[in-house]
Amino acid sequence: MADQTPAGDLRLVDLTKRFGGVTAVDGLTLTVGQGSFFALLGASGCGKTTTLRMIAGLERPTGGQVLLGDRDVTGLRPHKRPVNTVFQNYALFPHLNVFDNVAFGPRRRGLRAVDDEVLRMLTLVQLDGLGQRRPDQLSGGQQQRVALARALINRPRVLLLDEPLGALDLKLRRQMQLELKRVQSEVGVTFVHVTHDQEEAMTMADTVAVMNAGRIEQLGAPADLYEYPATAFVATFLGQSNLLAAEAAGFAGPAGSDVPVTAHGTRFSVPAHRARAAHGPVYLGVRPEKLHLADSVDQLPAGHQHVTGIVTDASYVGVSTQYLLRTGWGDELWAFTANTASGGRLPIGAPVVAHWDPEHAFLLPRAPAAADQAAVKLDEPVGAPS
Ligand code: ATP
Repeated sequence: MADQTPAGDLRLVDLTKRFGGVTAVDGLTLTVGQGSFFALLGASGCGKTTTLRMIAGLERPTGGQVLLGDRDVTGLRPHKRPVNTVFQNYALFPHLNVFDNVAFGPRRRGLRAVDDEVLRMLTLVQLDGLGQRRPDQLSGGQQQRVALARALINRPRVLLLDEPLGALDLKLRRQMQLELKRVQSEVGVTFVHVTHDQEEAMTMADTVAVMNAGRIEQLGAPADLYEYPATAFVATFLGQSNLLAAEAAGFAGPAGSDVPVTAHGTRFSVPAHRARAAHGPVYLGVRPEKLHLADSVDQLPAGHQHVTGIVTDASYVGVSTQYLLRTGWGDELWAFTANTASGGRLPIGAPVVAHWDPEHAFLLPRAPAAADQAAVKLDEPVGAPS
């Protein structure tokens, strides 16, 4: 890159893209800190790639701005931006060997003495000694490393990664996730990584932005998003959550320390600092691994809250057994128990007490109209007159 000044933070301000009647990106405003590893996470079609393409300059925004530090780059052509992209399909030149693929960018800019830098990049991505091979003589993971080296040699201020590990098998994918994280911390370049894989986003990124329908639902450190989701979408997209429809009665207890909630006539409470909503319709949430199982209420630790139910399914998945329970009210709950002790699994039909520490519960706002409509639709027979 010709521009060697520090880029500063990447800022998107009210960034919007409409394709005809489709709003792909809907007024996105966010800041990606310089040198951070940022993941845009969301389901297919939520607008991740379009956002990346607007940052790269490959797509013209319908509205809003892209800023690098104090510089507005919204109107700049792609090659004028200190930004490079690594795509899922690698896009290597098939007729060039690895060395020449990596050297391509600097040579195009007229640099001649590139050998040392190319060798340094090949070492960075652990491809020493493979410079003379052609792309078709490399594994998928090795090709992805070449693509990474080829982008990084241009010293971009921001590296955009669009599902770069999508074509790799699971094991290699996990290995490359750690590898990408190592490379990012070594080079200190801002990485913006697009993925629909929540585990991938959480493994690698300092900050994850969960996207839904062109908007950011929640942005934060992976552990914060997981432990304290802001919306029902995030609670169920990032891992699994048990969400009980309930009614909240405002803050109570000493200095408003708790929020009492009622579900199916039964009272529970959630610490105020874990409540995103404290009045009216809410979801009472508990993660499946935080839901413990006991034979009777006499066995519960002090302070735990509980519901009773029966086991309707049990799946052994190696590290844990995943139980599906049905409460007396008909709600379905997941409980994951670690397979750390020997002992039998609970049989289908077994009565159980599912209990949790209120410090592990959370409260989310629930839109009553939307939830009720969804419930009605689910119950309606197909083809019923509306
Ligand atoms: P995926 O994970 O499947 O790649 P994504 O989150 O990256 O999805 P985008 O590719 O950004 O999603 O697409 C967002 C929305 O914009 C989708 O509804 C898509 O159909 C639409 N879209 C994207 N590109 C175009 C285009 N060139 N013309 C019309 N609609 C488009």
